[in-house]
Amino acid sequence: MFLSTADQIANFLLTALNPQNSDTIIVICNGGMQMRFIDKLKMYMDRVLYGRNGFDEFSLFLMRTALLPLLISVLLGNLAGGYPSFCLYVIAMALIIWSLWRAVSKDTYARKTENSRFVNGSFMTGYRNCLVRFSQRKYYRFYRCPGCRKYLRVPKGKGKIRIHCPTCHSDFIKKT
Ligand SMILES: [Zn+2]
Repeated sequence: MFLSTADQIANFLLTALNPQNSDTIIVICNGGMQMRFIDKLKMYMDRVLYGRNGFDEFSLFLMRTALLPLLISVLLGNLAGGYPSFCLYVIAMALIIWSLWRAVSKDTYARKTENSRFVNGSFMTGYRNCLVRFSQRKYYRFYRCPGCRKYLRVPKGKGKIRIHCPTCHSDFIKKT
């Protein structure tokens, strides 16, 4: 399920730098043998991150999240500049530094604990559930139970129906 750290970084960098031709970059290494740039980068990253945590889901999430304030900061900077732009820039940099610091951290036990808390936490669970609801939207409708706020799944196209919540046993009527 997990890519190696070096694979992740190499893929991340290559898609960021050169989305079309990531497989065609070739460099000549010492022996005169041709070696793909990505392989060299992988070896290098393996050396750098040996015994360290590497990029896990949480670090990748931080890195991706940083892109939004960074982008807005650049746009704002071009339009108006000043204080708000600078604040967003600082936030973006803080997220990037946090992400990198986690990747190079040698306290892998603490980092793995953080990561599993993130992966199993309410934020990611909500996100995954949201994706599930989106993928099933053709055949099902999802309603929040007014009693306990849980999502209930009902088939589409059944007209007006009474929905019974199995958790809190309250009933409500909806058109599907
Ligand atoms: Zn309920």
